[in-house]
Amino acid sequence: YTFNLSSLNDQGIIGNGFYGTVYKMKHIETGKLMAVKRIRCNNLEPKEKQRLLREHDTIVNSEKCANIVKFYGAIFSEGDCLICMELMDVSMDLLYKRVYNVKHSRLEENAIGHIAVSTIDALSYLKDMMKIIHRDVKPSNILVDSKGNVKLCDFGICGVLENSVAKTHDVGCQPYLAPERIATVNSNYDVRSDVWSLGITLYELATGVFPYQEWRTPFDQISAVVQNDPPYLEEGGTSNFSLDMVQFINTCLTKEVGKRPKYRHLKYYSFYLRYSIPTGSTPTPEIEQARQVLGFEAVDTRNHPVEILG
Ligand code: ADP
Ligand code: MG
Repeated sequence: YTFNLSSLNDQGIIGNGFYGTVYKMKHIETGKLMAVKRIRCNNLEPKEKQRLLREHDTIVNSEKCANIVKFYGAIFSEGDCLICMELMDVSMDLLYKRVYNVKHSRLEENAIGHIAVSTIDALSYLKDMMKIIHRDVKPSNILVDSKGNVKLCDFGICGVLENSVAKTHDVGCQPYLAPERIATVNSNYDVRSDVWSLGITLYELATGVFPYQEWRTPFDQISAVVQNDPPYLEEGGTSNFSLDMVQFINTCLTKEVGKRPKYRHLKYYSFYLRYSIPTGSTPTPEIEQARQVLGFEAVDTRNHPVEILG
């Protein structure tokens, strides 16, 4: 197939982010719809281009992880990099905001469990098989489709493009960062920093609020991440959280990186075990139910996008 900018038909903007804009596009020859992320690059070195392609390519060619968004190819055009990937229905940030703020409902524990396991499986696959640390775990990088599949996107990009990308937002606006990423000038990125970001993400999805929301400015939020006790979820309450779930999320939010678990340890927690599907076995009714709910909400959110903006 021809695969360049003129072989794609623009169908409109899906969303804007830190590094650029995501468009819905149709591959004219095959009729395939895809999400295309246009990243404005100042002067990407050939070496960096190659690395970007290699990282994504290995991921696609292996195709062993069902929880990673498929990569179709990258196009370099006029100093921009266009990443063509699987089109999903919606990202978790939009989905949960619609559920909590518009429907005045909440995401139930089964949904949180299915999201947690899907994301951990994707992250540990990237680390173990590809030697990739994600570095940007947050609700908008966790995508859902109409069948309730949960997939991770935007891996590796931060690391490769850090120096050559024209950032569209201020660097300070990243309050999913772990304390050790803020407090120290540390070039060795530990997987456990992603575990923290996952903890913040799950906390946010479980409660409907970002845990550092009460601090108004990004600077105050970042100071709070470093100086305050970590966010802590209580068992029970009006949301009736299980002990399994709060233990799991709270352990991800261990402030001291050395004491925070890695994926390998998280996989022993009862909350993980409850929602993981061992190879060869069928999903439990709880997982099936979570898929149904998330699939429904994904389509509903996609069909009512305006209400959640702002
Ligand atoms: P961010 O992740 O910081 O929000 P991005 O530029 O990565 O910014 O993405 C912008 C928005 O586009 C995301 O918030 C998400 O809602 C949407 N999006 C990204 N990738 C896809 C995809 N593959 N399928 C559907 N929507 C996507
Ligand atoms: Mg993103």
